[in-house]
Amino acid sequence: MATIIKQGKSETELQEADNKVKIIVSDVIKDIETNGDAAVRKYSETFDNWSPESFRLSKEQIDEIIQTVPQQVIDDITFAQKQIRFFAQQQRDSIRDIEVETIPGVILGHKNIPVNSAGCYIPGGRYPMVASAHMSILTAKVAGVKRVIGCTPPIKGKIPNATIAAMHLAGADEIYLLGGMQAMVAMAVGTETIEPVDIIVGPGNAYVAEAKRQLYGKVGIDLFAGPTEILVIADETADAEMVACDLLGQAEHGPTSPGALITTSEKLAHETLVEIERQLQVLPTADIASVAWRDNGSIILVADEQEAVVEADKLAYEHVEVLTRNPDYFLENMTNYGALFLGPETNVAYGDKVIGTNHTLPTNKAARYTGGLWVGKFLKNCTYQRCTPEASVTIGEYGMRLCEIEGFMGHKEQAALRVRRYGDVAEPV
Ligand code: NAD
Repeated sequence: MATIIKQGKSETELQEADNKVKIIVSDVIKDIETNGDAAVRKYSETFDNWSPESFRLSKEQIDEIIQTVPQQVIDDITFAQKQIRFFAQQQRDSIRDIEVETIPGVILGHKNIPVNSAGCYIPGGRYPMVASAHMSILTAKVAGVKRVIGCTPPIKGKIPNATIAAMHLAGADEIYLLGGMQAMVAMAVGTETIEPVDIIVGPGNAYVAEAKRQLYGKVGIDLFAGPTEILVIADETADAEMVACDLLGQAEHGPTSPGALITTSEKLAHETLVEIERQLQVLPTADIASVAWRDNGSIILVADEQEAVVEADKLAYEHVEVLTRNPDYFLENMTNYGALFLGPETNVAYGDKVIGTNHTLPTNKAARYTGGLWVGKFLKNCTYQRCTPEASVTIGEYGMRLCEIEGFMGHKEQAALRVRRYGDVAEPV
């Protein structure tokens, strides 16, 4: 039986915050649908104090911005994009179109067709999330999406130059300096100046994630990728300094980011609590990380690896670091996670920024039913079929009877017409 050593906010408290966000987002969607650009501008002014002549950056503006970015930053972005592109391309190559003959004369197939346009959100309220540009825009381009647009907010009235450079290098066809839920809604429903897209993707704060949820159906979405989460699974072999460092590393994202430790070692649990307090004294982002840890941090003591898997699967967290004697046990047995980081040599920061796997990952238990963003999210799996006349008669005879069971007499007639038309010219198979 797992023991809670430290607990974050209750489900009820979290639900109340969610409900407030839902109401605000719903009003914003209605407003932008009715009033287009004027409403977008109003929210941009309110939340970002940002109202340029045009939210879209011109080619000249983009070139000028890139000139200001130091060469080392461009080189580092280029290195990260090379890793992410390579892995995404391998994933793309693993997705096959198929065509099979299921019974003589019946040909069935599927094609993976990229959506025509994608809107990528690159968060930037608190930090310029340069890496999100690679994760969304570049992945869409590798998938084969023709029109890929990107939105990112100004940070405290300033243009996030490195993010714009990354968006451009990743292959964005249009770049907008526009943030939050207003960007998501504008891309999804369109305005006088922004042509709507077929799918909106990318991470963001609770408003961005809720906008996606409410817009789903009008537009496709990738997944719910809200405030980031980290789970560390550790045994007595783990280093408390590393456990604390990795928990706080994610807590600095924002005050609502949950962090959890599941451990078989009570000693490590207590050492981690001490380490967290020590590191909070020196961490430059401690003002945010300390609130996140106080409100949303938890430590769960378990008896063994098996119980650790059960508890970890219940949490279904976005990032799961495994700092145990045998990390592969969790690769073999865990089923609910966005991304696994096996062993102390790798960590969430590698995955988030540079190693090559996608950092847009499911939060808020969405890992129970989806993985993270990848090329497959931009592809539609569309089937097709054809029959020889002989096969049409065979299928038609089954089809007529099956349609009749359901009372679909129009459907039955479609099948019957084929049986009559092809029955006298073809020998049944
Ligand atoms: P953001 O870009 O998501 O949101 C900033 C925007 O929010 C601002 O531009 C503004 O327009 C809007 N805003 C500000 N105050 C508001 C208010 N009171 N009401 C409504 N809208 C308001 O940037 P952020 O806020 O820094 O959040 C980024 C989030 O993305 C973090 O929570 C981080 O954890 C998450 N993230 C998740 C993943 C993932 O894969 N799950 C990956 C990266 C980042």
